[in-house]
Amino acid sequence: MNSGPATDPENLEFRNIRMSKTPAILWFRNDLRIEDNPALFAARESGHPVIPVFILDDNIEHAPGGANRWWLHHSLASLASDLEKAGVKLILRRGDSKKVLHGLVDETQASQVFWNRRYHNSQIEIDKALKSELTDHGVSVETFNGNLLREPWEVKTGSGGSYRVYTPFWKSLRAMGPARNEPLPRIRKINSPDAAPKSDKLTSWRLLPSKPDWASEFPTEWTPGEQGARDRLNDFLNEPVAHYSDGRNRPDFDYTSKLSPHLAFGEISPTKIWHVTQDRIASGEITQSSAEKFLSEIAWREFSYNLLFYNHQMPTTPLRSEFANYPWRNDEQALVAWQKGQTGYPIIDAGMRQLWRTGWMHNRVRMIVASFLIKDMLINWQDGAEWFWDTLVDADLANNSASWQWVAGCGADAAPYFRIFNPVTQGEKFDPNGDYVRKYVPELAKMPAKYIHAPWKAPQEILEKANVSLGKNYQKPFLDHSQARQRALDGYAKIRQN
Ligand code: FAD
Repeated sequence: MNSGPATDPENLEFRNIRMSKTPAILWFRNDLRIEDNPALFAARESGHPVIPVFILDDNIEHAPGGANRWWLHHSLASLASDLEKAGVKLILRRGDSKKVLHGLVDETQASQVFWNRRYHNSQIEIDKALKSELTDHGVSVETFNGNLLREPWEVKTGSGGSYRVYTPFWKSLRAMGPARNEPLPRIRKINSPDAAPKSDKLTSWRLLPSKPDWASEFPTEWTPGEQGARDRLNDFLNEPVAHYSDGRNRPDFDYTSKLSPHLAFGEISPTKIWHVTQDRIASGEITQSSAEKFLSEIAWREFSYNLLFYNHQMPTTPLRSEFANYPWRNDEQALVAWQKGQTGYPIIDAGMRQLWRTGWMHNRVRMIVASFLIKDMLINWQDGAEWFWDTLVDADLANNSASWQWVAGCGADAAPYFRIFNPVTQGEKFDPNGDYVRKYVPELAKMPAKYIHAPWKAPQEILEKANVSLGKNYQKPFLDHSQARQRALDGYAKIRQN
């Protein structure tokens, strides 16, 4: 940074000159959209030419995993195209985000910087430091809530504290509603500077996998970008939402919105989702009860962000301290079998293979596979969270760590530790015909529904008819659930004694 502090009168003069001629920088992070984007809206309203920038910083804590990077590539391509239509070029830079941003301010003589806030300590520290350094040098910095219905510090308990239990949190948030009474409009025209600063080429970042291209099936499943997010919301509200409250636990149907990756990258805001849903209720197109259930799930996301904001250690440390001493097993071979979907429990294997093939897994199955890893296999939840982080297109630090802690029983408002999912009865209940298993575990495609969730119980003639040879073309279950369950409960008893 070259200029002196803003409090210096000479410098104020310099700042005024700067203000009249210089551009505003809009720093995109996890808000890759041009509709209902408060930071972009304010940058445009400033009347200054706008330089939109995205910085790829690989040296941060919790840098994006592989599937996230695939999504990021396509999302940036889509954002760049939308911005180009509005008249500006998206600038791509790589490196330490503080250095890069300082460099860009110097290079362009920008007088203002705008961004939407982030909520993990590691991000907040970067943003706070930048804000104070830039302000000291006469650059104005304005920050906004772009990604939550309400800021974590706005949703308070009666005594002014933060919520640790979901139901009263949702009640309070429900009563407040979103901070914006309506979404901000889509930006159609943005003033650009006379000359755009240099930008990296997106392809030079090599965000896409090549050898092997493990994401080859992703494009049939997903359309990253703002238009894809809008279409996904409309499609969901046109039909599946009617089945949502009863059917959202059924992985064999497409009854959930699949908006999670779009939300994780900020291609659509929860505020927009909230208002579009309420408008559909008001016009009588959808019923209040199914829509309310959907909005209450959006509120789980808000709750996770609240927990992350007030518990920065959540991604790495159990919120209930007694779990720090849980006797986890270190079993690399078992972990790999779980990752590859080769445990011999069909619902687990289907879920893990859905994750690998599509970058996403149904919520009910996420709970079952997580419970299996933690409680049946006795492997630390953090190993599971890490695998999800690398393989989910919707990997989201708040949702992922809050959900893993919830299943493990060590988080705030967590499921009790002794609730241990039985993978066979869960499969029978939520995939009663076995269609979900058949889709992702083709070895079992011909198994009748009665035995598909426990093929080892099937008579030999049924196995033969279905071309299943246990131990040869499909694994035998690699542990016994009832024994494993007891082992988990014994481990829990130990930490409770301590
Ligand atoms: P819908 O049912 O249509 O819900 C709409 C939106 O509400 C979702 O897109 C999501 O943003 C939010 N939401 C729904 N359920 C939850 C929930 N339980 N917790 C928080 N937010 C929720 N979600 C992620 O976005 N990223 C993750 O990294 C992630 N990791 C998870 C790990 C585990 C072990 C578990 C059990 C759940 C995890 N979830 C995560 C939560 C949930 O599984 C996904 O948000 C959901 O499956 C996404 O599908 P959808 O968009 O169709 O959800």
